[in-house]
Amino acid sequence: MKIAIEELAGCSGCTIAVLDLHEMLLDVVEKAEIVYSPVIMDVKEPPEGIDIAFVTGAVRNEENRERLKMIRKRSKVLVALGTCACYGGVSGLSMLSSNAEIFNKVYRNGATVGEDGKIPSGVPPFTYRAFAVGDLAMMDYYITGCPPKENFLREIIPALIAGDSLDLSRKSVCSECDRKMGSVEGWKLKRRYEGVPDREHCLLGQGYLCLGPVTFGRCGASCPKNNVPCHGCNGPSLDILREPCRDLYNMMVRRISDLTDHKEKEIEEELYDVAHTMYPFTIGSLIMEDKENSKIRDLVKERSL
Ligand code: SF4
Ligand code: SF4
Ligand code: SF4
Repeated sequence: MKIAIEELAGCSGCTIAVLDLHEMLLDVVEKAEIVYSPVIMDVKEPPEGIDIAFVTGAVRNEENRERLKMIRKRSKVLVALGTCACYGGVSGLSMLSSNAEIFNKVYRNGATVGEDGKIPSGVPPFTYRAFAVGDLAMMDYYITGCPPKENFLREIIPALIAGDSLDLSRKSVCSECDRKMGSVEGWKLKRRYEGVPDREHCLLGQGYLCLGPVTFGRCGASCPKNNVPCHGCNGPSLDILREPCRDLYNMMVRRISDLTDHKEKEIEEELYDVAHTMYPFTIGSLIMEDKENSKIRDLVKERSL
């Protein structure tokens, strides 16, 4: 069994999450050989005949696009690993700036740019937008999370190698969260830095923008359990994915309106920085952008003018 991990536009955190399996990796390498992973080993190109390849990161430049094409051709099973690969992830937020702005920030005005102002040669051109890998290539499996959580990888990687099927939870973060709904009287939207949330009651009910109701679970609601609102790093919940008329934004607005005595319009007026609060992990996904009531199209247009 030959395994590979490809890196596209991401932070390599997903590969580090695999390394975080620690001694369980010894069981993995007993059954499978890791033949290619730019983060772990010095092999420049993926070989032919890979059994299972994991691809992490989004597609944001032409090199990413070529690498995705190559790894698809050379592997029998291709798995999108992490939210950048599945939904564009934080790389998608680059679409809030124009390609020229990003290029100038990094290669002309960055703190480490040489004094001669010389632009390095061979920089791969940007694609016109960010893509989730599934927007451009046929994927066999998706593993979400930024990065995917260790407990989850511990279940899924041995099963993939053994060819076993798993009965995994399909629920949202809220269904894994044990907070109770408290009083919502006088509900007002709060920024994360305002006050210290009470540890027993629902964060959304307390006014914090917790994306638990619209986010895919399998992380054990780890943020709410640590008194931090969920910011949606596992990507959209299954009911959002399945229904064309359900989007992260409109479902959150509806949820808050159902919970409180505020009308949807009033809630929309209170929401701030929608790109970073509602879509920080999904703005680069065509599936999410194509939803009829998605706000992504407007956000990207507004910022790149
Ligand atoms: S999903 Fe998160 S951890 Fe993985 S590459 Fe993207 S930013 Fe890094
Ligand atoms: S909204 Fe957040 S705090 Fe409330 S139940 Fe859902 S995950 Fe828990
Ligand atoms: S609670 Fe939300 S932000 Fe935190 S790990 Fe789970 S999905 Fe990600």
